[in-house]
This record gives sequence, C-alpha cells and structure tokens, in this order.
Amino acid sequence: MKNNNRKNISKYDELQLFAEVDGVCPNCPTILIGDKGGKKRKDYEIAHIYPLNPKAEEIEILKNQEILNSDLNHQDNLICLCLKCHNEFDNPRTLEEYINLLNKKKDLIRLSKEKSYWINSNIENEIFEIIDFLANEDFDFNEPDILNYNPKTIDEKTDSTITKLTKRKIHKNVQDYFNQVKNKFRDLDSLQPGTTETISIQIKQHYLLLRKSDSKKNQKEIFDAMIEWLNKRTKNKSYESSEIIISYFIQNCEIFE
Ligand SMILES: [Zn+2]
Repeated sequence: MKNNNRKNISKYDELQLFAEVDGVCPNCPTILIGDKGGKKRKDYEIAHIYPLNPKAEEIEILKNQEILNSDLNHQDNLICLCLKCHNEFDNPRTLEEYINLLNKKKDLIRLSKEKSYWINSNIENEIFEIIDFLANEDFDFNEPDILNYNPKTIDEKTDSTITKLTKRKIHKNVQDYFNQVKNKFRDLDSLQPGTTETISIQIKQHYLLLRKSDSKKNQKEIFDAMIEWLNKRTKNKSYESSEIIISYFIQNCEIFE
C-alpha cells in the first residue's frame, strides 16, 4: 500500500481550521490555546478525520463510510482537536467516533459556507428599529394579545426536520410578539413607505439563497442560518430579537412554503 505523506499545512489553512471550531476542541471543552506559567502555547493538533495512512483493521472498520475529500490532506478531512481527544480519536479507531467527528465537520463546513453569503444579502437599516424595540421595550405578557394571525400556519409549514424545541420557540415568539412586530412595521411604513415590503423581500431572498445553496438543508438548519445572518447583519445587537423577527417571517410566509 502506498504511504500518503503528511502535507505541511499553511499558516492560513491552520488559522481557518482554528477559527472554524472557535478555538475550542469540538469534542470537549478544552481551549486550544493554553497558558503555562503566563506563556501561551498551542494545545491542539490538526487531526485527519479519515486516517492518512490507515492500518488494515482501520480500513475494515471504515469501509463503506463517507470520506469528505478524496485528498486526505484537504481541509475538508482536517479538524483541530485537543491533544487528548486527538489521541483518543486515533487509538483505537472506532466507527462511532469516526461518524461523530465526520458529522461535526460537515456542520462546520456548512456553517463556513453560510458565512460566505452574509456579505451578499443586505437588509434595510429600519430593521434596527425593530431589533431595538424588541430588545428594550417592556412588554406586558399578562395582557392577552388579540390573535390576528392563524396559529396553525407554523404547524402546516414546518416538517419533521424542525426539532420540537425549535418549533415550540417559534410558536412562543409568534404568540408573544407577532402583533407587536406587525404594528412596529406599520409605524415604520408611515414614516418611510415600502419599508415592510422591502424588508420582507430581503428576508425571502436570503431564505431562497440558503435553499438554493444546498437543497438538502433542512428547516432547522435554515432557521438557525437565517438568525445567524440577521444577527450578524444587525451588528450582534440582540440574538433574541433576531430569533423573534425570523419567527415572525415564518408565520408571515416569507420563510418556508
Ligand atoms: Zn478535546
């Protein structure tokens, strides 16, 4: 069997792999830059997900399994792990650990790809008013809001890929804030006509872009990606407000059909 050579990884590829896991081991809570006696040190290694030079028994264990890139030195097959987790992952190789790490890496690749779309999808500045309003207004949740939306819409539009917890969150957001957000948009329209329509189109457009980029992307992944984008676009002002706004647009049918 031919021996694959470990390729020297460039500084930028390494930075990218480090950033991809946010500087924390994806298998445990270890921070990847350690501190020993006030001196920083590198507490990670770059692991090959599918082994670079698998032993016969490893080939057997991993046969028929997905490999993220036929070039085993490609970024897709590499991930930062703390030293302990790297050692555990390699010795002994198990199918369960392989599948687990492979799925984590697939999520990381997906998230990196979604980030590349952030810059392309704009959103009108008026959205900040809604974000601030949701984040700072004192709402009275004891006063029952008169429903002027159909609470069945969410159930009808979501499929089994959305988790129960996420569905519950969307329901709760719509129940508590739908009318508030609607009224706020109306106020904005009276100051600047067309605001609601423009923002609705921008939301829809980003949703379609995510769908087009990966037809296998499920509803939960789309929901999370929409929030991440809106939160980033609104300068990380309030993640919760972004969640409420995205829930609003699910109820309003711009997201999911
Ligand atoms: Zn670890």
